[in-house]
Amino acid sequence: MQTDTDVLTTPDLSWRENALCAQAGPEFFFPAPGSSTRQAKQLCGACEGRLACLEYALTHDERFGVWGGLSEKERGRLKRRSR
Ligand code: SF4
Repeated sequence: MQTDTDVLTTPDLSWRENALCAQAGPEFFFPAPGSSTRQAKQLCGACEGRLACLEYALTHDERFGVWGGLSEKERGRLKRRSR
């Protein structure tokens, strides 16, 4: 039986099961500074878990790489706008 506490402490990570990035190399999503993120963002655009992935990254303050189609700078801007 799942309790309210379980729901709060156990995030739903099922979106990872169909993550398109699992088929690509980490260099796609964690490019060297100054490198293009265009290909990673294109893949995210076709990923069915994009919104859940982005929400996870924002909630867990993921600082590096492309998550949910946004770079770290873009996620930072989104967080600042939502305050
Ligand atoms: S949205 Fe992008 S980073 Fe997130 S799981 Fe999908 S492919 Fe991976």
